[in-house]
Amino acid sequence: MSADHHHHDHDHNHGHHHDNRYTDMQARVRALETVLTEKGLIDPAAIDAIVETYETKIGPRNGAHVVAKAWSDPDFSGWLKRDATAAIASLGYAGRQGEHMRAVFNTPDTHNLVVCTLCSCYPWSVLGLPPVWYKAPAYRSRAVIDPRGVLAEFGLTLPETKKIRVWDSTAELRYLVIPERPEGTEGMSEDELAKLVSRDAMIGTAIARAESGKKRP
Ligand code: FE
Repeated sequence: MSADHHHHDHDHNHGHHHDNRYTDMQARVRALETVLTEKGLIDPAAIDAIVETYETKIGPRNGAHVVAKAWSDPDFSGWLKRDATAAIASLGYAGRQGEHMRAVFNTPDTHNLVVCTLCSCYPWSVLGLPPVWYKAPAYRSRAVIDPRGVLAEFGLTLPETKKIRVWDSTAELRYLVIPERPEGTEGMSEDELAKLVSRDAMIGTAIARAESGKKRP
């Protein structure tokens, strides 16, 4: 926890309310799923498919829109830097009360990576449901201790000269990574640009690539 790239700026009691609520909700959802499955009303595999769709396709489209607009509109980008909560809400993506957003911009010198070391705080309003690995203890501890090694496991090898900043999410403050705009995308519309922005690029375990929409679903 003493690594200098780790911005641990919240106390350890954060999020307990939300954790309890989350656990309670998980228990209720599990009970509901069990009853419905036993009565033959639902197929758990179908539920998994829906969750998967929300994790990777529907949820992160909001964040991709934010990123594409930041790439296309310098005024919006400036607003996003100064007050991400308001800039993101202006596009209709508002979080729950008390949830604040901060946008962290990748640059040629610095790559940003988001984790929640204590639980699974995640910017739901722009990314949807968190992936399973984001909630896993291995990611939560190793992202802080060895971010470069974790990124390599995600297939992202950054030059040694590039600094990695790790941001620890809390229930009160959640981060959205704004990846660097890929080269060769100058003529693209906002909609085309948004297709290049994956969920992982907005967590920081990937970068945006000019052809990523096709190669990495
Ligand atoms: Fe958390």
